[in-house]
Amino acid sequence: MSSKSVNSIESAVHALANDRLVAMPTETVYGLAARIDRPLAIEKVFKTKGRPSFDPLIVHVASLEQAKSLVSSWPTSADILAQKFWPGPLTLVVPKNSSVSDLISSGLETVGIRVPNHPLALELLTKCATPLAAPSANRFGRTSPTAIDHVRTEFPEAIASGEVFILDGGACDVGVESTVVRCEDDQVTVLRPGGVTKSELEAALRAANILTPVLFASENKKVASPGHTEHHYMPTKPLSVFWGSKAEIDAHKKQLSPQFQTISLNSDARLAARELYAALRSADQTEGKSSLILYRETQSHDELWQAIDDRLKRAASHRLGSPPSDQPHVI
Ligand code: AMP
Ligand code: MG
Repeated sequence: MSSKSVNSIESAVHALANDRLVAMPTETVYGLAARIDRPLAIEKVFKTKGRPSFDPLIVHVASLEQAKSLVSSWPTSADILAQKFWPGPLTLVVPKNSSVSDLISSGLETVGIRVPNHPLALELLTKCATPLAAPSANRFGRTSPTAIDHVRTEFPEAIASGEVFILDGGACDVGVESTVVRCEDDQVTVLRPGGVTKSELEAALRAANILTPVLFASENKKVASPGHTEHHYMPTKPLSVFWGSKAEIDAHKKQLSPQFQTISLNSDARLAARELYAALRSADQTEGKSSLILYRETQSHDELWQAIDDRLKRAASHRLGSPPSDQPHVI
């Protein structure tokens, strides 16, 4: 590692210890991090983002052991899933202990925890020796950042004043937020689809002889996820999303008004996830266009599309058609 990046990490550790925030690269999206033991800094996260206090923050940790230091109980399912998928894009929601403030958990008795899979994030967490609460580094409701330049456009003033320190870790590999999973002794519930699919969760539990069923939150009325709002990830210009076959998309494109800037997603789900937010941001900045339309071909059955479609539904001001996973036989 170059001396410059060593200095950067050290400066980031110093900033965090002084109640400032750090824009931290992860494999999903960039996070806006604060130490969990610095209430002033945690308040700044909500204020800087304009995030409502009912939307809990995910706590990032360096290891499974550090995760366990934050909980009042640790279900077997959480243990199996953490061992299989950490570091990685999986957030486990488990009962918290008093080291996690109500501000972080939005008054809930639970906390969402994950180990990010990015060398700079892991180095920062290790050097801080304290967990970091980090939501995505964008203003509330807007498109998540997957490159440091996206973060720069979100918080120019806070960065210029030094309130937000930035760490450049390159483009994010996964590109959509983590899968959020509530772990209970008798049940595992997917609160938000993400980089780890439901089938992968089921396979990991089965391999460990754990028979706990895995449900989507829509199938489990007793578990709800706060902050999972209908509108989120939105560009500034109105976005229409068109779900359909290639033939339907081609026919639609032919009669499209010139006011629209088009976005075509890659047909490979991994690449589509990785490119989605950068494509939305770049289309949003195109001059001379007042609206955006994103075409999403529905042929591929890769389960990762569920996470992408979830984000598209929330980012869209207008939906044309609906994702295949909305049809009951798929989920
Ligand atoms: P993000 O905005 O990507 O940092 O993700 C935070 C989201 O994770 C929240 O909006 C919730 O939907 C979910 N989440 C975090 N903590 C909890 C929790 N304790 N219980 C349920 N959902 C949570
Ligand atoms: Mg976010």
